[in-house]
Order: sequence, then structure tokens, then C-alpha cells
Amino acid sequence: MVYDLTGTWTGKNGNIHLLAEHSAWPRDMMALFAFRLDNAPHIAAAFNEDASQYAMASLCQVLRELVDDGGIITREQDDLVTALIWKTELLGQASPEVSCARFTQDFKLVMAGHSIPWGEQALHASVTGVWSFFHPEQFGHKASASCRGLLAALSRDRFDGAPVGADQGWALSYRSDMEMAARLFSDMEEDRLLLAWQPIQNGVDGGKILYHECLLRDVPEDPGASPAAAIAALERLGLVGALDHHVVSRVVEELACEPNACLGVNISAQSARFEGWWSEIEDRLRDRPDIAPRLVIEITETAQFPNIGQAVAFAGRMRKLGVRIALDDFGVGHASIRNLLALQPDIVKVDRFFLHRAIESDRGRATLQHLVGLAGNMASTIVVEGVETEAEDSLAVQAGALWRQGYHLGRPSVIRPWPQPVSPALDLPLLAGPERRRA
Ligand code: C2E
Ligand code: CA
Ligand code: CA
Repeated sequence: MVYDLTGTWTGKNGNIHLLAEHSAWPRDMMALFAFRLDNAPHIAAAFNEDASQYAMASLCQVLRELVDDGGIITREQDDLVTALIWKTELLGQASPEVSCARFTQDFKLVMAGHSIPWGEQALHASVTGVWSFFHPEQFGHKASASCRGLLAALSRDRFDGAPVGADQGWALSYRSDMEMAARLFSDMEEDRLLLAWQPIQNGVDGGKILYHECLLRDVPEDPGASPAAAIAALERLGLVGALDHHVVSRVVEELACEPNACLGVNISAQSARFEGWWSEIEDRLRDRPDIAPRLVIEITETAQFPNIGQAVAFAGRMRKLGVRIALDDFGVGHASIRNLLALQPDIVKVDRFFLHRAIESDRGRATLQHLVGLAGNMASTIVVEGVETEAEDSLAVQAGALWRQGYHLGRPSVIRPWPQPVSPALDLPLLAGPERRRA
């Protein structure tokens, strides 16, 4: 990780914009941040206490180098640190609210991607942060009250990753998760992650493509291999946000460069809430209003929604910009139907498990039909996943799903299928229920 305190943090995992020339901060105002190393107890249990202390010291060191002489870093308790920043131009040009939120989130992303060497392994830090700001005349009383308030808020904040386990088996699998995460982050840092694209096609008019779904490929592992196991590890470690930010940014960039493309991007349920890194994406979508209507965010439910209320607010805010929300893996996720209804997805993708079951028995066929019907009550556009044969293709259409995805229709490929005269299905109003049923 390289950073340059005279300008911009130049790591590929995140950008902390420092030393802005003009600041929207009122003169003399100060900012107070509190950060928690969320996985301090996990590292202590899976490695040892020294490893956890070392990770905490590394976190403080990165923060100290960032803040330099513009503030003071205090280690409060074992896994908590505060940063009082008086040189607020360090935080950027935006309003205090926005720049504090961004700094907090950017620091979180940077620490997730930052490799902390520990013996043969590398550790990655999952960080939560909160902030407040005040004038120097309020400094004494207000600062200590703020500090207490922030530390209390942090202790209430839930950690998205898996809890510490009690047995040796848990420690082993945590270390293996950390190893997978380190490999993925190192490949991300070195630009070795590729994006593959898979079409979502129309069952009646096979030439029509709704959009291409972006699927991550980790080249050094195996060019065709899926990083699904590493993504699941990142979710358990509470670190998946850094990867999601990286892929979403790349897909938005792709859309900016390719005006014919309509693309879908996967995000973990853990990233389906409005955090600082999304505000940077939101700004981009506002600057280029042609991008959002060509973007689908697929929320995968491989991990539980940490907070369904926040996910609903996130989906609403993205939809307002013109982005479509797809609910992925319908039928095998964790959330209740009531919660899924609250998300109001534009697209529901029925997990491939049901199509493969449908091919085996009448009962399976009835289940698929029932599920597609249920999905049709939640969203106007239904996709059946995992179409591997002609027979499965026909079954999906018979079940009432107009859009399908699978190896039979097109395998994920790193070769970009555009520019070409694509059928810009996302420019059309998404098909309504009755049309789908007629198909
Ligand atoms: P998903 O979102 O359900 O993606 C579809 C998966 O099904 C992909 O696996 C795709 O290669 C595979 N697939 C497509 N057609 C067929 C078929 O006909 N038969 C079978 N058996 N499989 C098919 P992949 O690429 O291994 O991705 C696995 C999962 O990893 C994805 O499931 C998604 O949950 C996650 N994932 C992939 N890329 C990303 C990413 O950039 N960010 C996040 N957060 N998750 C990702
Ligand atoms: Ca997906
Ligand atoms: Ca899926």
C-alpha cells in the first residue's frame, strides 16, 4: 500500500483524498473519529493475543501516518482508537458531515485491503468507525462527552462477520478464511482479478438480452475458477465490502466507457446499505445519468442481511437514481418473504437449485412453477438461473419465466460481448406480470 500525504492515497483498494486546497469546513472546527478493530477477538482466538495486538498497532500506525501532524491518535482500549483531527483540510472539500463519513468508510476499505504480515500469513483488519465534529471552544467538555458517546456507539455497533467460535476447528477455518482473503486482496491490489460476463436472455425472443451479469474471476488461482469460496470467506470475516466496492467501481467504469452495455453486478447482502463508499458511486451516477438505467445491482443472499431496514433504504435510494435492484438466489436465501417484499426488487432471480429439481420430478416442476408465481408477485421481471440444457430451457419458460440464464444460453466469458447492436432491454420498461404470464 502506498500513500502520499501531499495528495491522494494511491492504493487500488480505496482513495482517501487528502489535503484539499479549498475546504467547506468552518474555520477552527475539529473532527473526532473512533475506530474499532472488529476482528480483534477473532484474531486473538484464531492466532494469539500478540497477533491481535500487532493488528491493532498496525491500524494505529496507518492512521497516524495519514493524520501526521494534523491531529492526535489515542489508543483507548484494546480494540478502540480515537483520532482528533484539527487540520480538517486533510478530510477533503465536502461538508463536515460528508467528509467525515467518507474518511470513516475510506479508512475502513483501506484497512480491509491492507496486508498486515504475521509470520507466514497476512492479517486483514475489519474496522468500524464513527465520528463527530465541534468547535474548539466546545473542546474540553464537548470533546470528552463526544468521545464517550462515540465509544458507546461503537460498542453497540454490530459486527457483520461471523462470531468467534469456541473450538479448534473454528480457529483452523478462521485462519484458512484469512489466507483466502489475503490471496484475493493481493490479487486485487496487483490488478489480477478479471471480470467475466454472462447474458440473461429472453425465452421467447432468444436474441434479446436483458443485461450481462458480471462474475469475478481470480486469474492466478485458475482462469476459469470461481472465487465463490473466497467471497464466502470475506463475508464470514466481515471484509466483503472492500471487494464489492472494487467490483462495483469497475462495472460503473465499464458502463461509462461502453454506452451500449447493460450490466449487472453482485453485492453481498452485507453491502446492501448506504455507507461512505456508496456515496462516491452515487456521485458518479449523478454526474453521468446515462449509467444508472443500464446498471442492475444483484443482491446475493449468501450472507444474512445485517439490517433489513437499511437494505430497504439502500434499495430505494439506488432505485431513485434509476438503478434496478435484483434479488439473487431467490428460494435459498435467509430472509423471510415479508422482508424480501419490503425490498421491492425490480428483478427476482430464482436459484438454479429449483430448475435442476424440476427436471427430476413432477413435484419439482410444481415447486418451480409456484416459486416463479410467487416471484412474479414481488417483481415485474423474473429470471430463472442455471439453464444447462434445452429441456431445462423449456421447463423455465413453461414455469412462466421469460428471462433465463445458464451455460446452455451463454457461459460466463471474459471477452466483452459489446460494443455490438445489443437489444437494449433495460431501456425498455421492464416487462410486467401479465406479459410474462402470456409468454
Ligand atoms: P450467482 O450470483 O448466483 O452467479 C451465478 C453463478 O452460477 C456463477 O457462478 C455462474 O458461473 C454460475 N452459472 C451460470 N450458469 C450456470 C449453469 O447453467 N449451471 C451452473 N451449475 N452454474 C451456472 P460463479 O461465477 O462461480 O459465482 C458464484 C457466486 O459468487 C455468485 O453466484 C455470486 O453469489 C458470487 N459472486 C460472483 N462474483 C461476485 C462479485 O463480484 N461480488 C460478489 N459479492 N459476489 C460475487
Ligand atoms: Ca448473481
Ligand atoms: Ca444466483
